[in-house]
Amino acid sequence: MHGKRILRGYFGMVNALRRDRFSFLRDTIREKNGGVAIMKQVKIGSCVLSLIQGDITEQATEAIVNAANSRLAGGGGVDGAIHRAGGPAIAEECRKIGGCPTGKAVITRGGNLKARYVIHAVGPIYQGGKKKEAELLRSAYLSSLQLAEEHRLTSISFPSLSTGAYGYPLKEASLVALRTIIDFLSEHPGTSLREVVLVLFTSPDLAVYEESLTQVLKERGIET
Ligand code: ADP
Repeated sequence: MHGKRILRGYFGMVNALRRDRFSFLRDTIREKNGGVAIMKQVKIGSCVLSLIQGDITEQATEAIVNAANSRLAGGGGVDGAIHRAGGPAIAEECRKIGGCPTGKAVITRGGNLKARYVIHAVGPIYQGGKKKEAELLRSAYLSSLQLAEEHRLTSISFPSLSTGAYGYPLKEASLVALRTIIDFLSEHPGTSLREVVLVLFTSPDLAVYEESLTQVLKERGIET
């Protein structure tokens, strides 16, 4: 009787540890513009990955990622919005850096943004899929995560890189983004990152990412 209780206690503890070390997938209610929105969250090791609908410029994570071009010259979409909200200090720092190859990322201060840093990641222009686009998109996410890690940042928000003006099909891009982030977090259990947020601009985009998240977790054998 007593032995059974000890065993139950032991397995309960093991399960609790497993839950903590491995992952959970949940729908969380988040306050948004006075209302509420449901967001998907999954825990990978010690980091929570969230999918939300929103505007990247409003995120209060330590860094936000910009969908930049290789000249770091500013542009439309996310890039324009970040420079407008962050003020001229960001463009000034970008000008000093000079440029960034496709598939890489550089870091600047966040100017007037809530985020302390902007990581400018250069995703590929989609040209049919045979020009190493997947590899370059993966590399843009990975370089951003590596920069965050080098700066020991605890939180970072990404937009959906390359899926606007650069024309990358959303479903394929979402799979690349999620595989890269989830693999990075799984392979770096000592990461400084506690929070990674993917900020999707529209609700159809969020729905595509949600579907892909379920697919990638299954693919990677991550129990939720
Ligand atoms: P790229 O040139 O890399 O394709 P874009 O900025 O044109 O980058 O678009 C990337 C994605 O970001 C698109 O899916 C677009 O809908 C979305 N987007 C545009 N503005 C914002 C914003 N303010 N916050 C979050 N996502 C945004």
